[in-house]
Amino acid sequence: MKCRHCGNLLLHTFLDLGFAPPSNAYLTAADLSKPEKYYPLKIKVCDHCWLVQTEDYAQADELFSPDYAYFSSISSGWLAHAKAYAEQMMQLLQLSRNSLVIEVASNDGYLLKNFVAAGIPCLGIEPTTSTATEAEKLGIPVLQEFFCETLGKRLAAEGKKGDLISGKNVYAHVPDINDFTLGLKSALKPSGTITLEFPHVMRLIESTQFDTVYHEHFSYLSLYTVNHIFQAAGLRIWDVEELPTHGGSLRIYGCHQADFRPTTNAVEALLRREAEAGLQTLSPYVSFQARANKVKNDLLDFLVRQNRAGKKVAAYGAAAKGNTLLNYAGIKPDLLPLVCDAASAKQGKYMPGSHIPILPPQAIQEARPDFVLILPWNISDEVMEQNVFIREWGGKFVTSVPELVIQ
Ligand SMILES: [Zn+2]
Repeated sequence: MKCRHCGNLLLHTFLDLGFAPPSNAYLTAADLSKPEKYYPLKIKVCDHCWLVQTEDYAQADELFSPDYAYFSSISSGWLAHAKAYAEQMMQLLQLSRNSLVIEVASNDGYLLKNFVAAGIPCLGIEPTTSTATEAEKLGIPVLQEFFCETLGKRLAAEGKKGDLISGKNVYAHVPDINDFTLGLKSALKPSGTITLEFPHVMRLIESTQFDTVYHEHFSYLSLYTVNHIFQAAGLRIWDVEELPTHGGSLRIYGCHQADFRPTTNAVEALLRREAEAGLQTLSPYVSFQARANKVKNDLLDFLVRQNRAGKKVAAYGAAAKGNTLLNYAGIKPDLLPLVCDAASAKQGKYMPGSHIPILPPQAIQEARPDFVLILPWNISDEVMEQNVFIREWGGKFVTSVPELVIQ
């Protein structure tokens, strides 16, 4: 297989998680008596441009059916993040009634509604019908298509170039990252700004966040690599911010190469930190599997020990990252009999692969487990606060990434 950005042969494996079902393919009771589809989950790294990327596999497009619709507005933290971003951009870019804000993967309008409220024209691009319909109800025009260079050129021809083109957590999900970036270039006004947010591969490596690896993530990105991709498309990164979202993300600011804005010191400083972390050498990539295996083995060891001691363990949070972890570790209901989740759409279903039943949060009160394993470690403070009552019977909380912690 060749690198999706530079075409170099991919010779090095970053992470091999074997086979896994799609991380969001929650099962009904009826599904449990049917065969379940598993796809290879293997990540390679390019030793030329350092793009970390999924290995191609057959029938990949089956994974992206509209059944996997996720409504961004469900998370209150994410809504607040979007609102703060909108306010920051309106001020920074002096957006007005004469501007156009384009969002790629506009989902249910969780972000663009803030621009609509301020009277700033916007356009959403969202292929998933169910979420696009919700956005249209909020008065947001939506094109139900995948974003690509052809669409970018069409928007330009129709006079719909953006003063701001925003993409939150779409860039890492795009199979053809070069074509997508050329689309951004085509649809950008001469003085326009692109912002993209994506998980930072440096943080993924530092914190052994191997459980954030799913089939739906085609790329794991550094500033260095995105800088290369932008340059190849005739764009330039002029600023970068580090965000706490998704275990550590980057927000990059892009413009046309000829734009007058100077590149900030933040860009150079972060490029230097990445180089110091060795991200342009093989070592941090090829040593990652062993670190992921240690996390997996420590969790398994903990669960087996509790099982032998007759202790009860329950999990909290039926998140996608939990599925990656449980499936790689081969954990089944004998070691972890239940997982609780506040999302009613998941309750009564089963985790893909592990087939652990998903119950409402009250089930923790009834089961009185000795340990609650928090699968979405990124919200562990919130989960501990909500479930502090387990202390009444001496219960403890456990997180397993980046290392096993019992508290
Ligand atoms: Zn490459």
